[in-house]
Amino acid sequence: MRKFTYPHIGTLSLAIEGLLTGLGLDVVPPPPITKRTIDLGVLHAPEFACFPLKISLGNFIEALEAGANTIIMAGGTGPCRFGFYWVVQREILFDLGYDFEMIVLEPPQGQIKQVLDKAGALYGKCSLGQALSALHTFWRKIKALDFLHAQSLVVRAREAEQGATSKAYEAGLLFLKEARTPQEVQENLERALTLLAKVPRDPAKDVLKIGLVGEVYMLLEPYANLQVEKILGEMGVEVKRAVYLSDWIKEHVFLSSLYLPGGRSVKKAAAPYLRHFVGGHGRDSLGETVRFAREGFDGVIHILPFTCTPEIVAQSILPEVSRREGIPYLSIPLDEQSGEAGFVTRLEAFVDMLRERRSGSKKKQLLK
Ligand code: SF4
Repeated sequence: MRKFTYPHIGTLSLAIEGLLTGLGLDVVPPPPITKRTIDLGVLHAPEFACFPLKISLGNFIEALEAGANTIIMAGGTGPCRFGFYWVVQREILFDLGYDFEMIVLEPPQGQIKQVLDKAGALYGKCSLGQALSALHTFWRKIKALDFLHAQSLVVRAREAEQGATSKAYEAGLLFLKEARTPQEVQENLERALTLLAKVPRDPAKDVLKIGLVGEVYMLLEPYANLQVEKILGEMGVEVKRAVYLSDWIKEHVFLSSLYLPGGRSVKKAAAPYLRHFVGGHGRDSLGETVRFAREGFDGVIHILPFTCTPEIVAQSILPEVSRREGIPYLSIPLDEQSGEAGFVTRLEAFVDMLRERRSGSKKKQLLK
């Protein structure tokens, strides 16, 4: 009997588990990411593989150990390495002696029929109506998870008691995890938002605004980005993440199935600095930095996995974007070697610099 698993990618894991269960499939969720997960991925992956490949390989090993025998993985069309993740991971797992099947969902690129054929393998013991309802709930849940997350970033920067927002947010995630229908998703989102609204605020806080750009996996998975949003939020920074899963799915699944281009405004914003697609989110990181600058953000933090080619291209152009758009930025490559203490120190120094900059510009305005 097939027992399905998948890689962790932030809160998407909650929605995927609900979808697969709703389709009548047996699911073995990968255990939460820990140091052991990373160690397993690092031990068995090629040294220069991207960090997300190593973490998801660790997820698969732990899920197979827990009894899964069918892995669901996304594919890609390049030009970066993501399209080869599944090939590399599958070969490594076979070499390690695991007996399993891998179902790879490639981006539609207009070939919606091929995707549907593959998705047929995920069609469990349910009726068409149940499948459509599970998909509907999945989509609503992803949107609700994204909305709750964005709200938590606003609240955390203003909380009066450190950790209160994270506690409310975690409780809200559990509400959404439990939702089984679109209506329950809506009701549980409202319960979660009520919890967030009850977090006591400190109105005297001078809140900075920082945009977060970079490689998608690193932005979505808190374990991989060393909880950058939580750390900044607890420093009194309102973070706005450039990428949300619902936007990504809309662009890469819905629009690409209909041959419609997505992300026009980001591409337009990036165009004076980079006109070409360089793989992954490299061009978007530049376009989003431009947009954050024009929306009056205090700064931008760029998170990338060490050796990530598209983001290295963006990193090399960011100094010019920063100079011309007048926005400070901090670019941080992360991998399994990254230490939390050094990371926090860099964030603190950047935030201090932004506060100085803001108070300097306020003084200048008073002197005018
Ligand atoms: S975007 Fe970067 S980290 Fe992600 S697969 Fe491509 S090269 Fe690797």
